[in-house]
Amino acid sequence: MNYTVITGASSGIGYEAALAFAARGKNIIAVARREDKLNELKKAISSIYPEVDVVTITADLSISGNVYSFYDSLKPYEIETFINNAGFGNFDSVADQNLSKIQSMLRLNIESLTVLSSLFVRDYENVAGTQLINVSSGGGYTIVADAVTYCGTKFYVSAFTEGLAQELSSKGAHMKAKVLAPAATETEFAQRSFDVNEFEYNGTVPQYHTAKEMAQFMLDLYDSDKVVGIVNGETYEFSLVDPLYPYAKRSRK
Ligand code: NAP
Repeated sequence: MNYTVITGASSGIGYEAALAFAARGKNIIAVARREDKLNELKKAISSIYPEVDVVTITADLSISGNVYSFYDSLKPYEIETFINNAGFGNFDSVADQNLSKIQSMLRLNIESLTVLSSLFVRDYENVAGTQLINVSSGGGYTIVADAVTYCGTKFYVSAFTEGLAQELSSKGAHMKAKVLAPAATETEFAQRSFDVNEFEYNGTVPQYHTAKEMAQFMLDLYDSDKVVGIVNGETYEFSLVDPLYPYAKRSRK
């Protein structure tokens, strides 16, 4: 049995992506810190798609050691798709930012994503039909004021994943690596980024997508031969495109 692993599946884009992949008959491995929310997801999937197996794993992936033990716990399963979606933002000037939150963001958005991508590629790059989808942001291609450090983490996600896609393609590997770059999407993202308990998108954010729409864009990216699925921050149109960063090919010899 093949599984789709989704990090950050307890809310927002990850939660809706789990439902969307389950609708395709894909078995799901959902990971996040909140066990109750993962159980809700499992219940929701099992009631609509009883044939789909849902495995929930609680882990704080901003703690380096947990990332390896989480990956080890996947050993009994055949993985087809790995979606590194867990991540959060922060809105502040660099001088004012809370460094403990920032260090946790760097570990989750960059370190955990890099370790999990590398281990998945090492084990599965030659398995037909496998995909790695890393969730970046429009802020992974354009720097947004008051979110400089968050954008830095997402520039990393975009550059790393595009580079990996180029590397896999030049090796002739079976695995595809892809980047999803959402713009504003109605999730718990704003709450966590602004450190508030509630946030109403309607009336506050001029334009945004719903998490369900973003999950559909992720499926469109999954189905396509393109490397990047990106939302235009002005028109809010979604497009599937080739890698956007310049890439210099070098011989290994
Ligand atoms: P969200 O609703 O806050 O979801 C974030 C998910 O990540 C949750 O399931 C959360 O679960 C999980 N997570 C957070 N910290 C974690 C940790 N330490 N260990 C394990 N899981 C953790 O926000 P979202 O918008 O869906 O975010 C998904 C991705 O989209 C992120 O990478 C974000 O940067 C990106 N993105 C979002 C937007 C937007 O406007 N919403 C725009 C561009 C990009 P727990 O709290 O249960 O751990």
